[in-house]
Amino acid sequence: MAIVSSIMSTSVDPSSSRICVPHNTEKIFGNNAKSKPTYPRFCTSSRRDAKLRLAVSSSRVPSKLIHEEKHMTSPKKGHDVFEEIKHRFLTFKKDKYMENLERFQSLAKSQSPKFMVVACADSRVCPSAILGFQPGEAFTVRNIANIVPTYESGPSETKAALEFAVNSVQVENILVVGHSRCGGIRALMTMDDDETEEDIDSRSFIKNWVVVGKTARSTSKSAASGLSFDQQCQHCEKESVNCSLRNLLSYPWIEERVKNRTLSIHGGYYDFTECTFEKWTVDYQERSCGESKISVKDRSIWK
Ligand SMILES: [Zn+2]
Repeated sequence: MAIVSSIMSTSVDPSSSRICVPHNTEKIFGNNAKSKPTYPRFCTSSRRDAKLRLAVSSSRVPSKLIHEEKHMTSPKKGHDVFEEIKHRFLTFKKDKYMENLERFQSLAKSQSPKFMVVACADSRVCPSAILGFQPGEAFTVRNIANIVPTYESGPSETKAALEFAVNSVQVENILVVGHSRCGGIRALMTMDDDETEEDIDSRSFIKNWVVVGKTARSTSKSAASGLSFDQQCQHCEKESVNCSLRNLLSYPWIEERVKNRTLSIHGGYYDFTECTFEKWTVDYQERSCGESKISVKDRSIWK
């Protein structure tokens, strides 16, 4: 893959730059250290407490988000938790499936989603719930910290999903969604800087997975070195999305489709403490001598 020169932007926000960058440097879409933080609110959990914890509870919930939505509660003794699930399924069947029978029977024969979504496995960031994807609209893979490994690394279920979505289903968009208070990113950020893949205990599946994002970690620690650990984690949550977007372009069949404009790749960041969603799109441009540059375009925040 071709490389062009790297230019730093003035923003500490990894999703805000429009500066072209090389694919293979640690400065993804531009970052600059020690400028004022773009993240105005920070979580309160300590680094030690959060280590390897994948579900960080929210300490602040905007009052406007508190409502009477029915949630699954802890089952009483002798109560079958699947009674609630069964009820939900039968409600879906009655209200959605039977009401849209033609569409669901068409979907039973084939799927042609326009989107592939890569999202974190975190229970709070279900793409269908927050972005409204209906059955048949988004081919989705979820993993710890919404990471896309490079093409050159070994096989993984995420790479298998990408291959199927791009080469067989031929989706037109890939959206990588990061999120606030990501336990996977926190696990990545708590690893020692000099800890290599070889140093990691092979029994620690989480560490062996999140270390794939080590480039985002080093970039964030450098760009946000003057900020608190929580702020560095927030930086890395977005930076890792950019890292995944860059890694997507290491797949020759993805880069080819991006090049001929049949596939677009996008980053997203869901902040569930404030309920905002930030979206940006990768602008890929070919240069002479086989070089290319990537930058960010169409950045917007939905709130
Ligand atoms: Zn996460």
